[in-house]
Amino acid sequence: MSFEFFPPKDDASEAALWDAIRRLERVHPDFVSVTYGAGGTTQDRTVRVTERIARETTLTPLAHLTCVGASVGDIRRVVGQYAAAGVRNILALRGDPPGNPGGEWVAHPEGLDHATDLVDLIRTLGDFTIGVAAFPDVHPASPDLDHDVEVMVRKADAGASFAITQMVFDADTYLRLRDRVAQHRDLPITPGLMPVTNLKQITRMAQLMGTPLPRAVVDRLEAVAGDADAVRSVGVQIATELAQRMLSEGAPGLHFITMNRSTATLEVHENLGLSTGAR
Ligand code: FAD
Repeated sequence: MSFEFFPPKDDASEAALWDAIRRLERVHPDFVSVTYGAGGTTQDRTVRVTERIARETTLTPLAHLTCVGASVGDIRRVVGQYAAAGVRNILALRGDPPGNPGGEWVAHPEGLDHATDLVDLIRTLGDFTIGVAAFPDVHPASPDLDHDVEVMVRKADAGASFAITQMVFDADTYLRLRDRVAQHRDLPITPGLMPVTNLKQITRMAQLMGTPLPRAVVDRLEAVAGDADAVRSVGVQIATELAQRMLSEGAPGLHFITMNRSTATLEVHENLGLSTGAR
């Protein structure tokens, strides 16, 4: 099991993030990751939080890294910073044009075009374990699933040793991608799960990420839409059921998108019978 955070915007949200990290630390995740921001200052915050996790906690950090707005020299410097802080696991991503997730990709003139190029580069810079992204609902700019499977094969051949998916709400789409990739390469693919705590927020995120929300999920949440506590508890129940199905189908792990909060994720963890009593 692993947990994902995003770089905090200010001191108050950084304090809330550290509160969540400390609570989640008690259930001993395999690793925790911090998403890589789209611009200079949020990228700096990603690096700072990831370094602090490496230095001050018992947790194993997985550093997200993208090619957005960066020359090869810039990327080398960030990888060097991670290495100096003892970070040995990197999630190699292309990233999206800032403010425009579905928009046309334009590489930095001295930068990289695809995540596979980043995997290649990181491998030349040291002894890192490298992960990559996977898209059960097909990447928004990809023509079809066949193409995505091909991309996963290229990522494995470049040196990726595991993949984490975009958040997924339909176990069958995850299993379809996992099984198709398994026909070609031995690349463990861990599903990304997000316990829903707010219907508006998840609808916006799902649109942004190109993840369809299944009708059955929307119906269950809409049935309690007027009651914030009930939405939370149905969201935790949906995530629990999905996690149980993923594990029973042999998923190699579960990667929780926490939104920098701990409670919903810990509730799912407890429902799965994995709890050590932390809260
Ligand atoms: P790529 O593998 O380069 O794919 C991008 C597009 O190009 C796809 O359509 C793919 O089909 C196509 N493609 C890939 N290789 C080739 C090729 N050789 N020839 C032709 N076409 C090709 N974004 C952030 O900004 N920060 C983050 O921290 C972050 N974390 C993420 C974590 C996870 C688990 C996931 C699933 C996504 C994350 N993202 C993050 C979003 C991600 O950067 C975007 O979804 C991006 O559009 C795709 O990234 P990628 O690494 O898969 O890119």
